[in-house]
Amino acid sequence: MLVSRRDLIKQLSTLPLLGGMFTAGAITQRMPGLTGRRDYYKELGLRNFINAAGTYTALTGCLMTEEAVEAYNYAAGQYVALDELQDKVGERLAELIGCEAATVTCGAFSAITLGLAGVLTGDDPKKAARIPYDLTGMKSEVILQKSHSIGYSHALKNCGVKIIEVETVGELENAINENTAMLWFLNAHNFRGKIQYKEFIEVGKKFNIPMMNDCAADVPPVENLWKYTDMGFDLVCFSGGKGLRGPQSCGLLLGKKELIRGARLSAPPRGDTVGRGMKVNKEEVLAMLIAVETYINRDHDAEWKLWDSQIKLISNSALEVDGVETDIHVPEIANHVPSLNISWDQSKIKITPNEARQALRAGHPSIETVGGDKSVNITTWMMNAGEERIVARRVKEILMESSKT
Ligand SMILES: *Cc1c(COP(=O)(O)O)cnc(C)c1O
Repeated sequence: MLVSRRDLIKQLSTLPLLGGMFTAGAITQRMPGLTGRRDYYKELGLRNFINAAGTYTALTGCLMTEEAVEAYNYAAGQYVALDELQDKVGERLAELIGCEAATVTCGAFSAITLGLAGVLTGDDPKKAARIPYDLTGMKSEVILQKSHSIGYSHALKNCGVKIIEVETVGELENAINENTAMLWFLNAHNFRGKIQYKEFIEVGKKFNIPMMNDCAADVPPVENLWKYTDMGFDLVCFSGGKGLRGPQSCGLLLGKKELIRGARLSAPPRGDTVGRGMKVNKEEVLAMLIAVETYINRDHDAEWKLWDSQIKLISNSALEVDGVETDIHVPEIANHVPSLNISWDQSKIKITPNEARQALRAGHPSIETVGGDKSVNITTWMMNAGEERIVARRVKEILMESSKT
């Protein structure tokens, strides 16, 4: 099954017809909100903007693909039983991705909580009813590397477990005891930790402890969807509303059949559980599936070339201003897309990067970027096609204006 899926992708990416389909808006996004009816944001006095920042939760992540929106609207018109929908969608996701089992969660954060809950409870609903306040009869510790400890381990603590932080393989092996429920890994920090994939998985297998990998922001490349379950992680979590361009409040939990079944015990519609507040509605469950299907089948090479050319366009436009320097790079893991940092000689261009970002935000149309004191940072993968030209022009204008004395 794994092989046929990969062959399928290979075939799809070499089909000229498909390549041709992804020329205009299809490759990035549809134009937002232009349904010809009510302008809801305007009615509310809200600012919309060009997203030159990336997949940021506070900026509402991504725009769903047209295909995902279509599935969302379809589901909005017809009832279906939530568990039956999750069963079928899970099966289809597992088939598409080539893992044992899958389920749609309420974000990667919720995938972490539900996945751990499943590890703790197995198939016992009575245990599920006691998470997080009484873990009697369950294991109660999760081990992770200090360098992997960012705010998201709160998702583990929501199950009532104790977090044990280690740095070396020796410390990891020593920390494992009869209370160890799971080993947790933050994919984006693989290269920052002293224990990387191979050794981590070896230890997990040696002691027979389930391992979870948080890959929330880690497509592209598309292969990452199956890379880490193939590598030996028992559970893998993705965000639905980042590179996959599904609903922002969705995520994927992928992995071993019995662990996904266990996780579902703590998920809605079941009420007396830690996951009851992590409901995913039928519209989002279906839209998530279709987002994944669309993502796997898109022309990834063409998409990369588009992002690359957009980034170069903005970079070249900025470089027309005397004193500007640009840096084009691709982060190794997480937000692995062409990215641009624009900086300048502030004795020539009298504006700070933060002031420039504010000026971009205050303009019409408003443009959101990221960065700090040193640079204005831009990606184009979350933009609508064509918006890169507006961004290129505005960046140059603002820097030009600030270089006049
Ligand atoms: C975004 C992110 C999350 C949270 O994902 P949601 O889908 O918003 O719940 C968790 N872990 C990492 C590393 C992330 O980047």
